[in-house]
Amino acid sequence: VSGRVHEQQSKALHILETVFGYSSFRGQQAEIVQHVVQGGDALVLMPTGGGKSLCYQVPALVRDGVGVVVSPLIALMQDQVDALAEVGVRAAFLNSTQTFDEAMQIERRVRSGDLDVLYVAPERLMTPRCLDLLEAAHISLFAIDEAHCVSQWGHDFRPEYIKLSVLHERFPNVPRIALTATADQQTREEIIHRLQLEDARQFVSSFDRPNIRYQIVEKANGRKQLLDFIESEHPDDAGVVYCLSRKKVEETAEFLKQSGINALPYHAGMDYAKRTANQSRFLREDKIVMVATIAFGMGIDKPDVRFVAHLDLPKSIEGYYQETGRAGRDGLPANAWMAYGLQDVVQQRRMIAESEADETFKRVLGVKLDAMLGLCETLHCRRVRLLDYFGQHGQQACGNCDICLSPPVSFDGTLMAQKLLSTVYRVEQRFAAGHVLDVLRGIDGERVKQWRHDQLSVFGIGSEYGEAEWRAVLRQVIALGLLTVDHENYSSLKLTEEAKPVLRGEQKIQLRQYQKPVKPKRTSSKS
Ligand code: ADP
Ligand code: ZN
Repeated sequence: VSGRVHEQQSKALHILETVFGYSSFRGQQAEIVQHVVQGGDALVLMPTGGGKSLCYQVPALVRDGVGVVVSPLIALMQDQVDALAEVGVRAAFLNSTQTFDEAMQIERRVRSGDLDVLYVAPERLMTPRCLDLLEAAHISLFAIDEAHCVSQWGHDFRPEYIKLSVLHERFPNVPRIALTATADQQTREEIIHRLQLEDARQFVSSFDRPNIRYQIVEKANGRKQLLDFIESEHPDDAGVVYCLSRKKVEETAEFLKQSGINALPYHAGMDYAKRTANQSRFLREDKIVMVATIAFGMGIDKPDVRFVAHLDLPKSIEGYYQETGRAGRDGLPANAWMAYGLQDVVQQRRMIAESEADETFKRVLGVKLDAMLGLCETLHCRRVRLLDYFGQHGQQACGNCDICLSPPVSFDGTLMAQKLLSTVYRVEQRFAAGHVLDVLRGIDGERVKQWRHDQLSVFGIGSEYGEAEWRAVLRQVIALGLLTVDHENYSSLKLTEEAKPVLRGEQKIQLRQYQKPVKPKRTSSKS
């Protein structure tokens, strides 16, 4: 047996060298390849740029038969097939962009064993015609790319992916390898459960992207801060700016363009031709800043993206990690920059509250958002927090994030939090942030007088701090889960159970010292 294993290993290495032109496997590739070549199932978690493709392409060539790759990225199939064809691999794809005749031709090649790799869109694979075709063929392996698409909680959910468990039932002897670049523990479990990969070996690579510098700044005027960031740190670089809405994408792209930045918009509401034209300009030209919704980026392989900026808070750490991960795939220094403020928290919470989702689903979305807020409000290394989220515990502070580089000053914020929470309580949890802060700061505007809130004992107990300081405290208190925003009732602030021990003085809380947003220092300039 060991002789055979040895033979397979050297065959794999030979293929790596002669077909793909690489001298050695990287990271866990060798182990993964060996496991799949021997017929084992695998779940591969590897960050973007880690080299997932070779993990199934090499075994597909070592083993007899055709390797079937399930991928949702129809737009990239042609490129992938062309790249393989260039190095002499017999590859093809089946998807809805083909004519009937073209598909027939590919099917014929599958049946006659004339292919090494076949890319198939999941909805196509599930058709009886395609399943019959595969049953008549000799299959070396199934690769399920972007496996997180099976997760209903994730932002890339594809219903057809759930049906992929049929592969295990109809082809019990064909090894399956599922791959993804983003999976927290919950998504990982969902992939295993839904794809029936209970017996699969898990290969978890480090999720650290040491060349990416994480920075999350307090949002004052987001667009202006973004412009400062680009001008001072990336005047001549390609980058991606993510915004939540199509409207904001358009406006931000326009604003940057007016300010002399080579910016282009991208979102799913744009005319198809215009959208793809912008995408290919971004890929082919230098120094283009793509302003986009999250519709942009999945499967985009541009190695020299020097920065990814977020003008709106992502819904989850997975989304944040996936989007920021598009920076610096070439391994050179890159920035992940985000501006975030109270409005983001309120907006995201409202989107969850107002979504059509059922209660369980909303709860999961809430937990994911909380983790994202925790990353924003953390007083410790962001990378440690990020890696912790992906199950890599016990890491050292990185020295390459904003917190490590200029540690925030924290202070005992118990008293400030108590003042804020008491005010919410005294106005009977029926008012939104603006009103609560007016009462707290002793601003006796018309509305405050009308409700006689200038008569309350809490009126003006926070007058020693300005509005911006109180907003920063409010944001942190919401992020800590002491207050919630009730979107069904005029966005009024409500106390949670967690607020009680703080109000009773049984629990202290640390807050981050408020710092006025400052213009970043110029670290490089157009020379
Ligand atoms: P992923 O799908 O994980 O994002 P890819 O499979 O696209 O990553 O690989 C990323 C890049 O790394 C590609 O340019 C690929 O050619 C390169 N690469 C992968 N494995 C190796 C290796 N063993 N040696 C050298 N380069 C590699
Ligand atoms: Zn750090």
